Amino acid sequence: MTFMGANLGKRLWQRTMISLACREGLRTRIEGSDRLTALAERFVAGPDVEAAQRKAEAFAEAGIHTSIYYLGEYVDTEARVEDNVQHIIAAIEHFSHTGLDWFISVDPTQIGYSINEDLGWANAQRIGAALADLPAGRYMMLDMEDASYVQPTITLYERLVEAQVPTAITLQTYLLRTEDDLKRLAAQGATIRLVKGAFVANRRIAHTRKRDIDDAYLRLCLLALSPPMKESGLRPIFATHDDRILNILMPVASATGWQPGDYEIEMLLGVREPLQRQLAAQHTMRVYMPFGAAWWPYSIRRVGEKPAMAGFVLRAMLSKR
Ligand SMILES: Cc1cc2nc3c(=O)[nH]c(=O)nc-3n(C[C@H](O)[C@H](O)[C@H](O)COP(=O)(O)OP(=O)(O)OC[C@H]3O[C@@H](n4cnc5c(N)ncnc54)[C@H](O)[C@@H]3O)c2cc1C
Repeated sequence: MTFMGANLGKRLWQRTMISLACREGLRTRIEGSDRLTALAERFVAGPDVEAAQRKAEAFAEAGIHTSIYYLGEYVDTEARVEDNVQHIIAAIEHFSHTGLDWFISVDPTQIGYSINEDLGWANAQRIGAALADLPAGRYMMLDMEDASYVQPTITLYERLVEAQVPTAITLQTYLLRTEDDLKRLAAQGATIRLVKGAFVANRRIAHTRKRDIDDAYLRLCLLALSPPMKESGLRPIFATHDDRILNILMPVASATGWQPGDYEIEMLLGVREPLQRQLAAQHTMRVYMPFGAAWWPYSIRRVGEKPAMAGFVLRAMLSKR
């Protein structure tokens, strides 16, 4: 395949997986069946917070910290939002009694933003209250969803900071607006997780070619490591499995005076785990640890990021368990 062909093929595959993630009927059928459990086992810690704790403890033995995430995104009923919020608060309570180094990742849509912003804001405050009085480093990391939620998520972040809730934010470098967002939020001394972006958007607002997305990621990560950003108190989290880019960033971090504890590298559970263990020897390394029963939309989006996993999904579908 030519580069252009491969690029289009990957985008088509990713769009297909994102649309599968959003199909409610399919999700209910699949989550209730055994067939794709191999997929869940790879990307998800388990059905409950105890399973997440066990996995987190195993990673801690390798010097890897955790960000916990209760699965349940793009929900559209108040009952499911309430269920998510209760599980998130219970997870905070549960992990606060462990000796682990963790923070909690939250998707705005899972706490009400896909219904209305007032509900989302009220729930974000409830989660903030559960984080009050915990040691430094226990904060709410706002994940970033599709482009329609970017401005509401940034507004939510700013309101939480104003309300003195310990909060950090994810920015997606595939979006053209992100350089401005990064500069503005970094100047406020934010903790910012930089990702390439797991969604696809129109070329008016986003890079659409893989090569351009990779270039933008490298450029904005280098900007995050620049001396003015360091002086502003920015704490960057490089959330990528791209070792080519990490191999460029790490020497720059050290030459610019960043200590390993001033920035973090974060990767997903089930992705490049040998690399995670290798990096943990020299850098602050964290693993994103999803748990809960609603594993399908999350796992299938991970498959969308790597077309080569089509075979893995097919085998999981056909396997007899
Ligand atoms: C901690 C964390 C949090 C994230 N939060 C968000 C978020 O809030 N919003 C958002 O839009 N996106 C989020 N993402 C996803 C991110 O945007 C990318 O889609 C994803 O990380 C893949 O991009 P990459 O940087 O790893 O680079 P790529 O170039 O896609 O991958 C680099 C290499 O890593 C391996 N790899 C990457 N992904 C996979 C996979 N799924 N399975 C197997 N191998 C893989 C492949 O070998 C690939 O060659 C997050 C990612 C991480 C690590």
